[in-house]
Amino acid sequence: MNETYITVSDVMEYLFCPRFIYFMYCLDIKQHEDKRYKVLKGRKVHEVREKINKDYIRKKLNCTRKESSVYMASKKHHVKGIVDEVLFMDDGTASPFDYKYAEDKGKLFKTYKYQSVIYGLLIKENYNVDVRKGFICYTRSNNSVKEITFKEKDFTEAVKIINEILDIIQKGVYPKKTKSLMRCVDCTYRNICV
Ligand code: SF4
Repeated sequence: MNETYITVSDVMEYLFCPRFIYFMYCLDIKQHEDKRYKVLKGRKVHEVREKINKDYIRKKLNCTRKESSVYMASKKHHVKGIVDEVLFMDDGTASPFDYKYAEDKGKLFKTYKYQSVIYGLLIKENYNVDVRKGFICYTRSNNSVKEITFKEKDFTEAVKIINEILDIIQKGVYPKKTKSLMRCVDCTYRNICV
């Protein structure tokens, strides 16, 4: 029986560079964990939640109820993660809502997009509801909230990405380098990555 579960964070690492997964899981060489960043993000999310007008999400996004810090796992796709919020909309659908300790640069990064899509997959499976969009709140751009519309092909692509990661872990497939070689400059693994 296949008991391997990857995390939504693994997917983000993979999208940054597929080899991270190989070094982390197959060679068991961890990256330096930036704990300070995680603490900061945690604090910031808490502050923002307190600050955002309580009615904002309900009125502006047509949300009737929400759940916070929701852990979900997919038996079907072998992925798990904790989403900041699950919003339940007045049309019967639900959406992931994620806080980013980041500026809104005017474009949606692939990492952020697929993180949201995978939370969407998890919500569908765990709550048995339709998921058509996700939201990202950029806490360093005046808490600007951006909407992402999910298409069926986004879910298909997300499952493909998850399966590629599972293949690396389970079969020891050595993946290609990142296409953006600028990322290698200050990479933890640059001395062993050939
Ligand atoms: S050195 Fe470059 S290709 Fe190798 S793991 Fe780091 S980012 Fe990826």
